[in-house]
Amino acid sequence: MNCLAIEQRGEVLVVDCGVTFDDRRLGVDVVHPDFTALERYRIAGLFVTHGHEDHIGAIPYFLRRFDAPVYGPRYALGLVRERAADHEILDHVDMREVTPRQRVKVGSFEVEPVRVTHSIADATALAIRTDAGLVVHTGDFKFDAAPPDGEEFDVARFEELARDGVSLLLSDSTNVDAQGPTGSEQAVAGALEPIVAAARQAVVVALFASNVHRLRIVGDIARRHGRKLVMLGRSVATHARVARAVNRATGEHAGAPYLEWPTDLVWPVDRAGELPRSAFLGVATGTQGEEAAALARLARAEHPALELAPGDVVVLSSRVIPGNESAVLRVMSELLRRGVELRSWWSDRAVHVSGHAHREEQRRMIELVRPRAFVPVHGTLHHLWRHAALARELGVAQVCVLENGDVGELDVAGVRKIARAHAGRVHVFAHRALAPTVLHERAGLACRGTAHVVVQLDDRGRLAGEVVLVTRGVVDEATDAHVLAHARSEATTALEELADGGGHGGAIDEAAVVAAASQAVRRAFARVLGFKPVTTTTVLRVRR
Ligand SMILES: [Zn+2]
Ligand SMILES: [Zn+2]
Repeated sequence: MNCLAIEQRGEVLVVDCGVTFDDRRLGVDVVHPDFTALERYRIAGLFVTHGHEDHIGAIPYFLRRFDAPVYGPRYALGLVRERAADHEILDHVDMREVTPRQRVKVGSFEVEPVRVTHSIADATALAIRTDAGLVVHTGDFKFDAAPPDGEEFDVARFEELARDGVSLLLSDSTNVDAQGPTGSEQAVAGALEPIVAAARQAVVVALFASNVHRLRIVGDIARRHGRKLVMLGRSVATHARVARAVNRATGEHAGAPYLEWPTDLVWPVDRAGELPRSAFLGVATGTQGEEAAALARLARAEHPALELAPGDVVVLSSRVIPGNESAVLRVMSELLRRGVELRSWWSDRAVHVSGHAHREEQRRMIELVRPRAFVPVHGTLHHLWRHAALARELGVAQVCVLENGDVGELDVAGVRKIARAHAGRVHVFAHRALAPTVLHERAGLACRGTAHVVVQLDDRGRLAGEVVLVTRGVVDEATDAHVLAHARSEATTALEELADGGGHGGAIDEAAVVAAASQAVRRAFARVLGFKPVTTTTVLRVRR
């Protein structure tokens, strides 16, 4: 959920505007940054470094609040266009394409994208000229010596920037704990090809849909081995479509689309059944074990395009993002039960390389830029601290760790933390923000279920008829009827006591009735089950 605001003279340049996801299964579609803190400034523009969701996904939400131009590399803007169309705001978005080494004025800032390599095409760092000197933001990067699209890391430009003098470097911290070289995307081709070559039946490669380099590699392999690509999952289809529709702005292949696939390479998913198994090369989403994604559906034999069988090969060309291990292992178990040959990073290290610089490459970046001050970005606090320590080790004079919401100030003396800004997360469901109270209630409902009590009272405040109790997600109402009966009788007793002790001469205190019924039911459940469901009570007035 990357989003950085750089402010000078009362105006703000926003760098990246991404989303994240909520893994608590509370029906949250997406999480975006809370933009409240930006409201007191004039927004000069939003600049994106590359097209990954954690850098562009929140742009539609941002543009609902702020009227600002969006700058970025062509491929990223192609993806922003897709998002904007989904949100029906495409007509209102002012998108301005920029190419590496092109300097653009954004308010009082001057911004220049610099080519870097990463697990998506058209990734850039940003060189930002500010009142406090030159700021370099790496975006997400790794040093890939042989990028599959031929767009090489512009080391020479970083050297020139270093010679000009860099006041502040902000750099990607994700893989600070990883030793050894990151590895080239091209090496993945070398690992995937023999697997496909040896396969006699269907092959499915699961990958991060946004990795255009990997899509290109899989497409090349399909061509060489007489297979057709079948796009399994919406996001691989979207990314493949954008990559075939957007023409490259720079490099040797300028003018040609990012993916130059012949029209007959991609086989329509709805006709997958007509394809011989030996010609099937599926590209699937769902490498993180997401239940609704193509890979999990294939594993459960619920995907209409293919029923996996012994002899088929499934390759997880991916890494497991920490926190997703059990979901991924669950999907892997299902795949193994289908009898498929399963290849993954665990069995075949080379089927995946990361898009983020390992420690040695982070070191190389700091040595390349030689900044006066350093702020690590993109990682948990642990990653930021480790990356900060690395910068100190390398002799950077000023190192400052900033967490979400921290305000750092850069001047001639360096950078330091000076304040806190309002920062937080906005949880979105069905295109609407969920209030924190709603999210809290959902958590309660998911964990403890709900009980609803209906109390009928006559006009003297006496119980008229039986107390009704309905539960969801609490007990099996058929087999545990006695638990419900117990709770109902506790509620009845509490209400009778309330009526007896009331002496209110006809005036019924409904709030007291609601409280007594709810409390009695919650206590009854707590005694028998050990937990209290989310309980609501309705009072019905019965006239005779
Ligand atoms: Zn990225
Ligand atoms: Zn990222």
